[in-house]
Amino acid sequence: MATFFQSVRQGFGRGGNNKNTPPKSPVQAPQDPRTMANSPSLSNSLTLDNIAANDPNAPKYFFQEKYAPLNVRGNFLTLCACPKNVELGEWLAHQIVEQYRLLHGMLQVIQETNGVTGVPICNESTCPTMSAGRLTYTWLVDGRAAKISAPKFINRVEKWIVSKIHDPVMFPTEKVTGIPETSAMKDAAAATGEPADQSEGAPAGPNATGSDEWIGKSSGFPQTFYKDCQGIMKQMFRCYAHLYHAHWLNPFWHINKHDILNMCFVHFVTVAKYYQLVSDKEMEPMQPLIDLFIKQQRVPPEALNGGHWAVAPPPSN
Ligand SMILES: [Zn+2]
Repeated sequence: MATFFQSVRQGFGRGGNNKNTPPKSPVQAPQDPRTMANSPSLSNSLTLDNIAANDPNAPKYFFQEKYAPLNVRGNFLTLCACPKNVELGEWLAHQIVEQYRLLHGMLQVIQETNGVTGVPICNESTCPTMSAGRLTYTWLVDGRAAKISAPKFINRVEKWIVSKIHDPVMFPTEKVTGIPETSAMKDAAAATGEPADQSEGAPAGPNATGSDEWIGKSSGFPQTFYKDCQGIMKQMFRCYAHLYHAHWLNPFWHINKHDILNMCFVHFVTVAKYYQLVSDKEMEPMQPLIDLFIKQQRVPPEALNGGHWAVAPPPSN
């Protein structure tokens, strides 16, 4: 029984209204003059308003060390590594829920309706596609990869992740007898639409094909559990990539929340690398910042080169 995960899921609601959620209101945040003095928009001939959210040529301040501060000392290894007395499947489920909670807090910042314009910062006209620099992510609509707007894409990702987290097959919280049934999950996914290229580029991971052992088996998680975790983390990564490439300056830098964004992202990258949940190829749009975090050991060395699997060998067949 996934008792550990059950206990952590109880604090998780659709609204994600956890008191630990980072501040979400960009509209009411006062503009600190000291912040403005350091603003990249003033130290550069470009003004904020001239930088379109989706301009792939916009300066990538977030890839520069001086704009990549973190309000934490050390790193997130202790929050990421699986405690000895917790089953790995339960721990991964907990990590996924926690990562979603953090991401959701950041997404709320761009989803908040602006009191002046009446529309959210990330809207159909600022972000007609789900882009991260020159890259555009697509969503599977009627079996075909479609370019949908970033707000629509993010909304679908959030609904999709929440539905997975609340899916009693994928994230069981009650005692399971026999082999978990996974076809129901596929049917549900087909009905609501799936992110495109779901399986492409996923790290091979530790679950060997044909093995009758898998991560989370003893806690009642389905055989597809690890792969599903990878799928969820991949979509979460894409949301982060959009947050940085389209919204780092507006609003995060301007409301002085870029350090919180960095904190959430470096935590995310630590988990993603440690458990090999997101492929290096997928992470390319954010590689310079990830390299910076690795250089600073904000992403701990233990998360690299095999991470968890370097310490605890995967189940063999
Ligand atoms: Zn956007």
